[in-house]
Amino acid sequence: MARRPLIAGNWKLHNGLEASVTLARAVVAGVDAGTRAEVVLAPVFTALSSVAAVVRGTGVGLAGQDVHWDDKGAFTGEVSAPLLADVGASHVIVGHSERRQFFGDDDARVRRKVEAALRGGLVPIACVGETLGEREAGKTLDVVLGQLDAIAKDLVGIERVVIAYEPVWAIGTGRVAKAEDAEDVHRAIRDRVRALAGDAIADGLRILYGGSVKGDNAAALLGQADIDGALVGGASLDAAQFLAIIRAA
Ligand code: PEP
Repeated sequence: MARRPLIAGNWKLHNGLEASVTLARAVVAGVDAGTRAEVVLAPVFTALSSVAAVVRGTGVGLAGQDVHWDDKGAFTGEVSAPLLADVGASHVIVGHSERRQFFGDDDARVRRKVEAALRGGLVPIACVGETLGEREAGKTLDVVLGQLDAIAKDLVGIERVVIAYEPVWAIGTGRVAKAEDAEDVHRAIRDRVRALAGDAIADGLRILYGGSVKGDNAAALLGQADIDGALVGGASLDAAQFLAIIRAA
């Protein structure tokens, strides 16, 4: 089944309003009718509204970098799915390894955030991935499939979820996974979703790779059968690099 590639740029804690708008304009200018991939930008929360104005009507999507599990309430500092939708977001990143590592997002919390995103009409880009220690201990699939189960088991709306496989040791390190190694994990993810939710959902599921994707390594990764796009950190801050990845898709 032909799955439309998705290339998402995670700008993390970078770029104020002016830099965000400039970068978004450059990406929009480089994405044309011949672009096969779906493109999504995830700026800081404070720039969502400004970037929304740039991407509106262009086909480029907008994502939050995180979401709270409840729709409203006494949760100082949080942002909800309805608020993200209200500002024009179509997607939201959930369970990024930096959230898991620094902000206490465990599997149970990630599940609640995925459910909140779906309830709010957003596409969750739900991240899974092993640390270097876990990989070296031969636990990659145990860890990744355990995180996946927490996200996907008995999930109403699973057909709208995007999974991002991001080996933690490859994020921001310049150490990219070998395309064949990444493909092995992607295939295992699809097989597990097949067992959980059936053929149609597994065949339609988009599984992104993330971790030091650049213009010059994107084609090898995106050429793998089960790699359906990329979640891009550092290289998404540079329009030329990001557009090179989009073209590779
Ligand atoms: C990320 O933060 O999701 C990521 C993949 O970062 P980088 O591309 O910089 O490794």
